[in-house]
Amino acid sequence: MNNNKTKYLLEKLINFNTENFDDKPSGYTLDFLRFIRKYLKESGIKSKIHKYDLNKKYDGKIEKIKNRGILLTEINDSKKPIILLEGHTDTVPIESKNISKAICSVKGNIIKGRGAVDMKGSIVSMILAIQELNKNKNLKYQPVLLLTSDEEANNFAGIKHFLKLQKKHKYNIKFAVCGEPTNFEIKINFYGALYMIIECFGKSGHGANKSENENAIENIVPFLNDLLKYQKEISKIRHPQLGYSVMNIGTIRGGRKVNQVPSSCVIEFAVRTVKKNNIYLNLFNDIVENKKILHKTTQVFSYDPICVSSNNKFVSELKKSVLKSGKKSQFNISKEFSEATLLNKAGLETVMFGPGNSVYSHSSNEKINIKDVLLTKEILVDFLSLSSHSIP
Ligand SMILES: [Zn+2]
Repeated sequence: MNNNKTKYLLEKLINFNTENFDDKPSGYTLDFLRFIRKYLKESGIKSKIHKYDLNKKYDGKIEKIKNRGILLTEINDSKKPIILLEGHTDTVPIESKNISKAICSVKGNIIKGRGAVDMKGSIVSMILAIQELNKNKNLKYQPVLLLTSDEEANNFAGIKHFLKLQKKHKYNIKFAVCGEPTNFEIKINFYGALYMIIECFGKSGHGANKSENENAIENIVPFLNDLLKYQKEISKIRHPQLGYSVMNIGTIRGGRKVNQVPSSCVIEFAVRTVKKNNIYLNLFNDIVENKKILHKTTQVFSYDPICVSSNNKFVSELKKSVLKSGKKSQFNISKEFSEATLLNKAGLETVMFGPGNSVYSHSSNEKINIKDVLLTKEILVDFLSLSSHSIP
């Protein structure tokens, strides 16, 4: 029975198209959130959808994108400390022409479809856990569910909207679980991220009449060479828990036609950092930035790495619950940037823990085993039934 209910719920959630693109209005999740609000209400759990708008730049024009939202279940006792279960409802693009058709397929216990592992399967675990915990009136901590939007695109606008609410209401949150897929590992160490853009300029004109220093692509070459030197230097920076820094030059764009002098050339690169980002920025200034060539450097975002202590009481309790379920409990690191970093940055201690293997995230073969979804529910229920634990 439980199995069928879980399958039904996950299928339903996958079939809401919540794919999110950065370059066009998309990622609409309100119908998804309303469905969950109704579903939870049927078992006596109230929740509220908090709406927000986005200001987006498409083709140089600023557009206001409305009807964005996050869902938060009701906090019914302001004194009782909270444990937050958190996840995002949007997905990366579906990559199928038939998006109006069902996008979920079921074979035995395996559910396939965009968002199955990242992270609607995990959302189902959290919904079922909240439902079950609601029957227990002696909980020491209130479980609160937070579902966000705009994680896969639009610069984490959903979780940022929640953090505004948190600042205003000062919810008494003691710990949070971000449900990204970790395959039963508890991720407590998070890489930082530094994302930067270098643009070089030139003077547009016919290729035959080119003068010196006017070609933006040629002007960017010294930067590109020095970025490789920079990469070599930072790949030596190591942290005992996180390991080594990683850098990727993601894009290079410049020029339109072979007989035209390009007026702009842009390089985008990202560093996964393991120590404070100012170390990386100082090195960047020493190795790459110090040139007389006309250019513009933009720091798109910068977040320092974060480590949650494995001695944190909630972390130890979660570990016990994982072990009780029969799974090996391991701590691990997350190299991907996620909402967990933003929650930690805001002072809310957060670990990552969720069903499914993240190698399937964003892939064309996204899938999850319904048994993992149910087992995660069991672990969360055990973990949140802290009234019986010795935690202060
Ligand atoms: Zn995700």
